[in-house]
Amino acid sequence: MPSDLHTHTVYSDGKYTPEELVAAAKAAGLSYLAITDHDTVEGIGHLYENGLYPVKGLHIIPGIEFSAHHPMHEVHILGYNIDIYYRELVDKLNDVTEARWTRFSEMVEKLCGLGYHISETEVLTLAGESKSISRSHIARILVKKGYFESIRDAFAELLQKGKPAYVPHYRMETAEIIALIKAAGGTPVLAHPKLVGDDELVEQLCQSGIEGLEVYYPAHEAADTQRYIEMAKKYGLLLSGGSDFHGYATRFPQEMGIFTIDDEVAEQFFRSEHI
Ligand code: AMP
Ligand code: MN
Ligand code: MN
Ligand code: MN
Repeated sequence: MPSDLHTHTVYSDGKYTPEELVAAAKAAGLSYLAITDHDTVEGIGHLYENGLYPVKGLHIIPGIEFSAHHPMHEVHILGYNIDIYYRELVDKLNDVTEARWTRFSEMVEKLCGLGYHISETEVLTLAGESKSISRSHIARILVKKGYFESIRDAFAELLQKGKPAYVPHYRMETAEIIALIKAAGGTPVLAHPKLVGDDELVEQLCQSGIEGLEVYYPAHEAADTQRYIEMAKKYGLLLSGGSDFHGYATRFPQEMGIFTIDDEVAEQFFRSEHI
């Protein structure tokens, strides 16, 4: 059976609630599902605290996707099997989420200055449950208001690093993230290495205490996957993978179960169900 170790819910920039995500994973016949929202574990807390976990017939891996500080590149670090109630993690995530609010305000201000008339309220309304406000939410409003044809275009013109409306994240270095994931009992994995955009940096990160590499990823061509498998082997890292499912029709994979990994890969990251 197939598995997926990289998915988002409404608690960050995904479309599905955690229960919808779980239902979709079950319908797709998945064995293992990791929920990995950006800088938040609220989706997992929601399952734990509403009697929605454990799920019969589906192994859920409590996870997260951290955004690391880097001046030029997008460095995302996944954490699997974290204790979501670990004090230091909870405190840090509060700080990070709060900083995302300030950052989002600054981005809206920049956009208004550039002639894109969007309001904080519009973005927050669209963000709904999410306290982890991201550029995805802003991009969706820009498209909705007709400024751009696609989210991709909004990023390319305004929101990517180096573009005029970009504002950096709360400053969390990769070493700090890796240490925090480990302290919370989890396994740190470097997400989508190709999207980092610099294999030398990826190779450095492979030697920085990370324990796995997300070699199976929709944006990876076969040759990329092979190259990263070799890199993971060179540095003694676990192989990992996932679809980065957000649930939006405009972004692959549109449905859960279209891009999956083998259970043998996923089960390495699973520990017994626990709260
Ligand atoms: P943030 O957390 O604010 O840095 O926003 C990053 C999120 O925006 C990512 O998780 C993606 O979901 C989305 N994203 C980043 N780059 C692009 C892009 N070029 N096109 C579409 N979505 C993107
Ligand atoms: Mn996202
Ligand atoms: Mn990512
Ligand atoms: Mn992701």
